[in-house]
Amino acid sequence: MGIYEDNYLAKRPQELCNMCGRCCRVVTTSKSYEELKALQAQNDEGACEFLKIFVPYPSIEAARTVDKELVDNVINLLKEDGNYDENRLTFYGCKYLLDNNMCSIYEQRPTLCVHCPATPWSIVPPGCGFEGWLFLEREKAKQTVRKAKEDLLELKLLKSKSSDPEVLKKIASVEHKIQHTIDLYKKYGSYDW
Ligand code: SF4
Ligand code: SF4
Repeated sequence: MGIYEDNYLAKRPQELCNMCGRCCRVVTTSKSYEELKALQAQNDEGACEFLKIFVPYPSIEAARTVDKELVDNVINLLKEDGNYDENRLTFYGCKYLLDNNMCSIYEQRPTLCVHCPATPWSIVPPGCGFEGWLFLEREKAKQTVRKAKEDLLELKLLKSKSSDPEVLKKIASVEHKIQHTIDLYKKYGSYDW
């Protein structure tokens, strides 16, 4: 994981989980089942870990009978983003979830479970105990990136007013550090905020 994700996980209030078990009972991934199996065949750690515990539902309809709200929520989000493809979408359920929503391998559960939700951009089931906190964390991250962009603009102005090589060198160094901050959020769309 990157520095940003590590920091996020370090401060995540685990007590917000209300142990409803929904994120174990019906989940999906951005990769198709075929892609996951291909990655598993190449010993990809994430794919191997995922397919070790999660079993695919035979159809979207079968997953819907288990958690309709969750399935429809995912489909709506994918449609909003223009990423919905019925043929690529598979839902899975964990074989270690007990009827009382407890995890039967809790102490040995894989890293992907320990890290869930792994970033403020993780899609959680409606009503998940983390929902409100994740929203606030996303807003905080966006504020950080916007401030960093403002700082870059100020430095650009400063640069245009100076010809002193020492000053320009210092500005370049600060610019580099600020750009690094923006890059930490790159995979979550920091260039669009
Ligand atoms: S959906 Fe949210 S509240 Fe429910 S078990 Fe998963 S993390 Fe906890
Ligand atoms: S291993 Fe445990 S925590 Fe992980 S998805 Fe399964 S039931 Fe949930």
